[in-house]
Amino acid sequence: MSALPDRAVAMLAAVHTRPGLTRAEASRVLGIGTGGATEVVGRLVDERLLAEGPAAPGGGRGRPTRTLTAHPDGPLVLAAVITHESWQVAAVELGGAPVAALTGRHAGDPADVALGRLRTAVTGLRDRYGSRVRGLGVAGPGIVLDQRYLDATGLGWTGVDLWSLWPGADVLVADNDATLAALAESRRGAAVDARLAVHLRVDAGLGGAVVDAGRLVVGARGAAGEFGHLPMGDPAVRCPCGARGCWGTAVDGTALARLLGEPEPSDPVTYAGQVIAHAAAGDEIAAGAVGAAAAALGRGIAGLVNALDPDLVTLGGLGADLLAAAPAELDAACRAGLMRFRHATPPPVVAARVGEAGPLTGAAERVWDRWWELLRR
Ligand SMILES: [Zn+2]
Repeated sequence: MSALPDRAVAMLAAVHTRPGLTRAEASRVLGIGTGGATEVVGRLVDERLLAEGPAAPGGGRGRPTRTLTAHPDGPLVLAAVITHESWQVAAVELGGAPVAALTGRHAGDPADVALGRLRTAVTGLRDRYGSRVRGLGVAGPGIVLDQRYLDATGLGWTGVDLWSLWPGADVLVADNDATLAALAESRRGAAVDARLAVHLRVDAGLGGAVVDAGRLVVGARGAAGEFGHLPMGDPAVRCPCGARGCWGTAVDGTALARLLGEPEPSDPVTYAGQVIAHAAAGDEIAAGAVGAAAAALGRGIAGLVNALDPDLVTLGGLGADLLAAAPAELDAACRAGLMRFRHATPPPVVAARVGEAGPLTGAAERVWDRWWELLRR
């Protein structure tokens, strides 16, 4: 495809951010006249990048303005997520809606997952949608160096090459799942209007990211946001990362098992969900463990708030479950750790709105971002 003028790319990005916006709204967002907007939309429709929907209701004077949406034969991006227990891949259209999704469970062998079943699924979606597919974004459950190599200590994976999922792709980005969930939350979730947002995702361990005015803070090698390895946990506990006292070991399923005197679960996410369900059903011992993990989460959040000065903290994965199950314990521990000047107006700590779809949504957003850049060249 030929390069598009900047304002055509901006129009695509505007429709992606707010599918269904009207041509008139888009012309205002872009700061171009209605004549210019008509010309840009005409070209994008001709190139099957956008579709015009029915006229928007209401509106007042003049001709009714029409809504702008994804073209039914328009561009798609693939977004894949690898968790400790499963994989999934979806084809996502402009505006963020998935049009197809495949999922399965895995037993933890990187060759089987990264080079086997997930690649087969990616290839299948590429075959189905052909040249409509513009790239692939992958969310992994660990550190992803140079947007490519996954180290997942919980799975025992080191340097797994995620680019092998689609050799030679025009756009292939890979990142940590919690980082991508943070991006999703800032694009389409609770943190859309935040000046500085901290997102924390508890899965098997704890990850997250800082989003500063809509931009991810990624670090020099793309590995920023490993908040779960701040030494805010019990120094007697060794973390799979090799350090002692990591905060993540105080808030996840392994923490709940330790608090309950049970062996380390092979499936810590599923296990944590079961303990939280037992607590909700009235099991006081389970509730005590859940409260302690929630307090450990709140204490660490206070540390991050003191250090980073966010105006919002969002919690995903088991973090949201702990907040829902033991809000008083989490809040009390957080307040106890906050500097006094923050007590009057502490930043809200809320559940992520994109929720479990965060890593997938963020992976797709990363690919769209890169595709806008390619279109401008
Ligand atoms: Zn660690």
